[in-house]
Amino acid sequence: MATANSNLVHCDHCAKDVEYHYDPLNHWKHLLFSVCSLGLWLPFWLFATLSPSKLCNQCGNPLWSTDVAPSPPSRRKPS
Ligand SMILES: [Zn+2]
Repeated sequence: MATANSNLVHCDHCAKDVEYHYDPLNHWKHLLFSVCSLGLWLPFWLFATLSPSKLCNQCGNPLWSTDVAPSPPSRRKPS
């Protein structure tokens, strides 16, 4: 079963839906920071590992929005 290729994220900088890639994490750098900071950097390392930042393929800016299309802000409570 083939899944739809929907690897598009809206980029505010490009003002359009673009393909993205993940910022490759430099674990050696984080290891060095963790050692130098006596372990204080570990939470940041963990955070960066668990939530890699998406980068726009067009402009290279980080993409924080995961919405492909803007959804109308209409909230309906199920009654
Ligand atoms: Zn962009």
